Amino acid sequence: MDIEAVKKEKTLVIIKPDGIQRTLIGEIIKRFERSGLKLVALKMALATPEMVEKHYTVNSEWKKNVGEKTIKAYEKKGATPPSMDPIVLADKVLSHLKKYMTSGPVVAMVWQGMHAVGVVRKITGATEPLSSDVGTIRGDYTIDSYQVSDTDGRSVRNLIHASGDPVEAAAEIALWFTDNELHNYRLFAETVLYDANFGV
Ligand code: ATP
Ligand code: MG
Repeated sequence: MDIEAVKKEKTLVIIKPDGIQRTLIGEIIKRFERSGLKLVALKMALATPEMVEKHYTVNSEWKKNVGEKTIKAYEKKGATPPSMDPIVLADKVLSHLKKYMTSGPVVAMVWQGMHAVGVVRKITGATEPLSSDVGTIRGDYTIDSYQVSDTDGRSVRNLIHASGDPVEAAAEIALWFTDNELHNYRLFAETVLYDANFGV
């Protein structure tokens, strides 16, 4: 493992249209900011359906994963999924995401720091708000389930997107930001967080 790369890891977070409508922009940013991660890019944007499709399919495994995750969540609750084919489920999810993610502006940002992808996923919580832990953004600030969203024919409304792994993050960041929109600066707190000799 390249420790220097781990210390500089970047991840993409998008506050989805429901997060904007719930007036949670400040709360969400605060949760990431207080972790020690550094905000290196930020913008408000209105996504197009093409952008949403590109965003969710930068990872070729995404369809399989999202379908399998949905089936497992249903089975864990003793319920029957709408289909047992992960790709069929994922195609539905993607078509709903195109409506959801373009229904209003989103706030896109890049957070950088040690294990940024994992730290942000932990603070974000599980995809389905019904299953997300208390203390996470999705667990604390909203309510939704696969069962209700699938029955209503819409996306699970879970306030934010967070990259799933560093490779996905790099591709997503390149999709939403140009190189000169990513800022390179140092926070004083980085001495405490990263310097090997601090306090020894
Ligand atoms: P995100 O990629 O948005 O950070 P995630 O990585 O936790 O969320 P994914 O599995 O990548 O979850 O799914 C992307 C998004 O698609 C979810 O955040 C949710 O809004 C929606 N979604 C996923 N599965 C379903 C489903 N079965 N029914 C409705 N919406 C779904
Ligand atoms: Mg994802």
